[in-house]
Amino acid sequence: MTKSDKLREQCGVVAIYSHPEAETLAYLGLHALQHRGQESAGIVSSDGMSLHIHKSMGLVADIFTEKKLSRIRGTLAIGHTRYSTTGDSALLNAQPILVQSNKGTMAVAHNGNLTNAQSIRSRMEAMGSIFQTSSDTEVIVHLIAQSREQTLPDAIADALRRVEGAFSLVMISPDRIFAVRDPRGFRPLAMGRIVGQGSRDTIVFASETCAFDLIGANYEREVRPGELVIVGPEGLTSRFYAPNFPQSSCIFEHVYFSRPDSRVFGRPVQESREQLGRQLAIEAPAEADLVVPVPDSGVTAAMGYAAESGIPLRFGLIRNHYVGRTFIEPQQSVRDFGVKLKLNPVRSLLAGKRVVLIDDSIVRGTTSRKIVRMIRNAGAREVHMRISCPPTISPCFYGVDTPRKKELIAANNSIEEIRQYIGADSLAYLSIAGLKKACRDGETTTYCTACYTGHYPTNLVDVEDIQPATVDKS
Ligand code: AMP
Repeated sequence: MTKSDKLREQCGVVAIYSHPEAETLAYLGLHALQHRGQESAGIVSSDGMSLHIHKSMGLVADIFTEKKLSRIRGTLAIGHTRYSTTGDSALLNAQPILVQSNKGTMAVAHNGNLTNAQSIRSRMEAMGSIFQTSSDTEVIVHLIAQSREQTLPDAIADALRRVEGAFSLVMISPDRIFAVRDPRGFRPLAMGRIVGQGSRDTIVFASETCAFDLIGANYEREVRPGELVIVGPEGLTSRFYAPNFPQSSCIFEHVYFSRPDSRVFGRPVQESREQLGRQLAIEAPAEADLVVPVPDSGVTAAMGYAAESGIPLRFGLIRNHYVGRTFIEPQQSVRDFGVKLKLNPVRSLLAGKRVVLIDDSIVRGTTSRKIVRMIRNAGAREVHMRISCPPTISPCFYGVDTPRKKELIAANNSIEEIRQYIGADSLAYLSIAGLKKACRDGETTTYCTACYTGHYPTNLVDVEDIQPATVDKS
């Protein structure tokens, strides 16, 4: 595994303070965040005295049975769901990470990627530190333990000032929940409240507000960039551990990653995604009979494209939602088998039609190539591919799983070459200006668009596979 391999993770986090069934609320929250990571999940709860953990590989609903949850019953809890593309997906790296340290027992769950973790780790290892995982999150735990500050909140603040990159964190000690966002606010973290009946309110945190809906919490606000929120017996306190930086919230959360029923960075994802489609129709119109989304990622943008263009929206591709990992593939190769397992065309809709096919992104180009072929084989006369974001030309080092630059089709080919490769009659992407307009850049946040521009808002200390064109020092 190379350094850069470790930088590819997508995750969801949740935290609950305090509720008689905190572990069950954390479980429900993770269930709503399952799309953010399907490799492993875990919960750490506290009964007020000590911490209890259960984590495992797999999906949230399979990992936690009623019996397992009853063993980690608590009034405080944090949870994590994780996805990792590389060999480091072992249970050892599943989160939360639970440790005993000189600052007491605590556990951490992390969404995002640090961009200087490897250098800090090498330095610590040279001085004798022993790491148990290959996850960058463990660096934060070591920094907290080694901090000269006396109290846990001060040690956390001290540790966070030493790391760079993307981190939305939730932490738990026996009697407190901590919620943190990095100073640039790369990844989301929202705060909500379940109004108590007679007793105190329950404070909750989650990567996306769709987790709040399932547990009956009301959205209150974002955890702000550079903010450390602490909820404990003394109530809720907040402090800013780092100076202000320009916000660099991940625009890809609005393009693809978050659910449309979530509010992310203070803005409803549904609105952004529909506007992306409308803007795309203005910038890249097509003469066609039908607008067809690639489900599920292209659906909301396709609705916007259809509404703006006046071309009817039709579900010409049907997705099978029950594709498991353990599916038995035929021994003799069937062409495009993987995509066929997931998507099937509706021939009666597509035959003889000119189709505008909408998807959120082209990464390697292999999926689009197969889907275009599928639509043509179903009888479509023309296929016009429209993508609701700009060409993906640079990897993400802040927590979205994008492959290396050499595998990104748009980093190495012109749009005309990509069109030929995927076999479409025409191909167009949204402009950067159109993307920012649709997501209301500058309103509730300003965005990181590094995957479309190659301009990274932080130093990329540990990154090997690109020579960054620019690093914004602002
Ligand atoms: P590709 O074959 O690599 O071009 O895959 C493009 C497809 O992957 C699109 O349909 C996207 O919706 C989806 N996609 C884009 N980015 C990601 C990501 N970070 N994780 C999972 N799927 C993605």
